[in-house]
Amino acid sequence: MRILVVEDDVAMAAAIKRALHAAGVVADIAGLGDDALWMVRAAAYDVVVLDVGLPDLDGVEVCRRLRQSGVWTPIIMVTARDAVVDRVRGLDAGADDYLTKPFALGELLARLRALARREAVERPACLEVGSLRLDPAARRVWRGGAEVSLTAREFALLEAFMRHAGQALTHLQLLDAAWDFGYEHRSNVVEVYVGYLRGKLDTPFGVTSIETVRGVGYRLREDGGA
Ligand code: CA
Repeated sequence: MRILVVEDDVAMAAAIKRALHAAGVVADIAGLGDDALWMVRAAAYDVVVLDVGLPDLDGVEVCRRLRQSGVWTPIIMVTARDAVVDRVRGLDAGADDYLTKPFALGELLARLRALARREAVERPACLEVGSLRLDPAARRVWRGGAEVSLTAREFALLEAFMRHAGQALTHLQLLDAAWDFGYEHRSNVVEVYVGYLRGKLDTPFGVTSIETVRGVGYRLREDGGA
């Protein structure tokens, strides 16, 4: 097994490398996100252990760039304890697993072995439905080549549609996906926000993507709009 450890804390990186070596695992160290980017492309690593806190590029960004460029080497994200946001961002960006600091080296080894057994399969972190593309981690949306700016609520709603393209979603399902619990469920917010999405993603491009399903709710066409 050959591992790349991306960690700027020199003592920590050396300790990990020693422990891996003792377990018969070859490990290279990268102290910067930029170094990690070229090293992963240059060598055949079985797993990348990627710290979120790096001096140049944040580890989540490194992960996202690798996935965007079609590199599917398994990645374990290392985050600070309780940094739930980082873990969610990491998984959204295409990481396979995460460890929180401080972690036992035995646990790292177990996770490495589990990941190395898996094939590196293509799992695009971006959602694509026809000409609609949504990057959950970067919070960006495109219709074809044009980036479309959405509010947080519009984004959450579109993400729900794109994760269930071709399926009719009820008002309640859409409310659950994009609104928190305190929201007034009898109001027509879903209708209003679907209108906003159509105004940004369909009308300017002369297409229809979100269809009204009478008596049920709405459906994003599987072709993303035509
Ligand atoms: Ca660090």
